[in-house]
Amino acid sequence: GLLVGMEQIGKIYPNGTVAVQNVNLRVGEGEFLCFVGPSGCGKSTIFNMIAGLTGHTSGRLSVLGTTPKEARKMNEIAFVFQEHTLLPWSKLIDNVTMPLTLRGVPKKERIREGERVLELVGLKDYLKVLPRQLSGGMKMRVSIARALISRPKLLLMDEPFGALDEITRQSLQDELLNIWRQDRKMTVLFITHNVFEAAFLSTRVVVMTPRPGKIADILEIPTPFP
Ligand code: ADP
Ligand code: ADP
Repeated sequence: GLLVGMEQIGKIYPNGTVAVQNVNLRVGEGEFLCFVGPSGCGKSTIFNMIAGLTGHTSGRLSVLGTTPKEARKMNEIAFVFQEHTLLPWSKLIDNVTMPLTLRGVPKKERIREGERVLELVGLKDYLKVLPRQLSGGMKMRVSIARALISRPKLLLMDEPFGALDEITRQSLQDELLNIWRQDRKMTVLFITHNVFEAAFLSTRVVVMTPRPGKIADILEIPTPFP
């Protein structure tokens, strides 16, 4: 099915900044799409509109078959940012299960799901560790685990690996692809400045123009994986 449908989407911020203009894009179930383009071209704005965090000011936008605001309430959209939004004084298991705690999910189920996602990112032996004891790459794994705990249909990643060293970045790219291949219904939208990263990860690359953000081109990346 269609996960995200953008028709002539535009965004003008209240201060008059034209951030996005005439964007047309359809994203299907199970795609892995990367967004590349210079700083300020509107990539984060597009993500925030899809996530229902800011409204579009023109065009039509559907997310998970409904409006972004309604889609947001369904808990099927998850976000991962470059900066870690982990609670420094909470154990990893408490950090990753936070979305479930907020929704009142019983403890037994929370722990089971927490262990599941920490295992997915290779951190099952770290349940009781505090984030401040971890490297940047490991903290990113925890952020990904927390995003996955609600089994999102749509995973939005805004330059998640931008602050990591090259070796760590490459292993996280591999791990992310493995996770995505295990759940081929999950759609990933991924912002990066790194063209190699985009080509390696995605099935399509959306190239944005300098501001105001328009789509300059959409590149289909042949993937060796069925
Ligand atoms: P990015 O890494 O995507 O380039 P920015 O540094 O441009 O991010 O923006 C960081 C935050 O500041 C975002 O939440 C964005 O909405 C906000 N922001 C960016 N530019 C402006 C602006 N001109 N006025 C108000 N807020 C802004
Ligand atoms: P990118 O993610 O590609 O770096 P952004 O979506 O963050 O781009 O920003 C697109 C444009 O919108 C930039 O000119 C930025 O300064 C502006 N902008 C972003 N957020 C805000 C905001 N909250 N208020 C006003 N302008 C903003």
